[in-house]
Amino acid sequence: MRVENLIQDKAYEFGYEKCGIVRIQDLEGYDKCLRERIDKVPASKMFYRSQSRLTDLQGRYPWAKSVIVAVSHFGHYKAPEQLKGHIAKHYLFDGRVNTESKEFKRSVAMEQFLQDLGLKTASNRNFGIVGLRWAAMKAGLGIIRKNNFFYTESGSWVGLEAWITDRDMELVESTNLPICPEGCSNCIKACPTCSLSSPYTMNPLSCVSFLTTFGGRDLANDPLGKSIGTWIYGCDACQDACPMNSGKWTEKDEFPGVLEISLCLTPENIMKMEEEFYKHNIQPKFFYLSPDELWKWKVNVLNFMRNNYQESYKQYILEACNNENEKIRDIAQMICKDIFNR
Ligand code: SF4
Ligand code: SF4
Repeated sequence: MRVENLIQDKAYEFGYEKCGIVRIQDLEGYDKCLRERIDKVPASKMFYRSQSRLTDLQGRYPWAKSVIVAVSHFGHYKAPEQLKGHIAKHYLFDGRVNTESKEFKRSVAMEQFLQDLGLKTASNRNFGIVGLRWAAMKAGLGIIRKNNFFYTESGSWVGLEAWITDRDMELVESTNLPICPEGCSNCIKACPTCSLSSPYTMNPLSCVSFLTTFGGRDLANDPLGKSIGTWIYGCDACQDACPMNSGKWTEKDEFPGVLEISLCLTPENIMKMEEEFYKHNIQPKFFYLSPDELWKWKVNVLNFMRNNYQESYKQYILEACNNENEKIRDIAQMICKDIFNR
């Protein structure tokens, strides 16, 4: 049996939905793709510059010959009602960091298997070592739709992983997924901040997923704060609105720890959360914010409380006006002016 088929068979045995292998030189076009994105939205230059670590793979890894890409489907997990529309599903069911999850365990097992085969490998489980969507598309595992998400037959509720290897291999699959229906622009219309402004065109700096995690460091003064609506961490609007995702979320299985965590992640409980609890129980599962960034969760929640105000939130907003963290105080005081006129 060819080693490519051996790897693919093992990936399926571990529970991956798809697996393919591309030659390293076949990923060269990613660089051009990034440049085109910057040309379309010049404001995104700073953001995409950080993605340049995913280009010039042959220069960075002179020994690299091929890239194995694997797809995990997470659209079968039960999402707690109180978190729906507030925490993006990929972050809630994040197998990259939850060591108890099947996704994490299969990733470790796959890496071990590749090394046992004698392959030299490089990977980055959290952030990817290549342009993951690009590599998955090149491996024929699915397509990238107008909302920029990668889709398989399971919709966009999939996670991607890749390993660079030193073996010359190729196993490109084919897919007959239909392209986006003509005239469909549901994802663009659904984008709350107009970050997704036209097909395949977005400004990552105004995406809610960025503003509620790595970005949004001055949400009190950012006009986009009001557009964030009900989201607290991440955003699924352009995926939820997509007809190609219709009926693709099945809510069959429990993801380890999600039920327990869901009780702590209500807006009220985030405002009451202590640093130590956050560091040990929340941050390890939501790693886009660091162990000392509980304040950012609280700013996101205050923004949510402003956008979805109800009387029971008043005590949290007033209390936050005296918080020791300046960013929390700033947004709470701004909300007081806006809502209570004081
Ligand atoms: S994730 Fe949300 S904010 Fe970002 S492009 Fe999609 S709909 Fe817009
Ligand atoms: S909402 Fe429509 S245009 Fe957007 S990705 Fe889905 S099918 Fe394509």
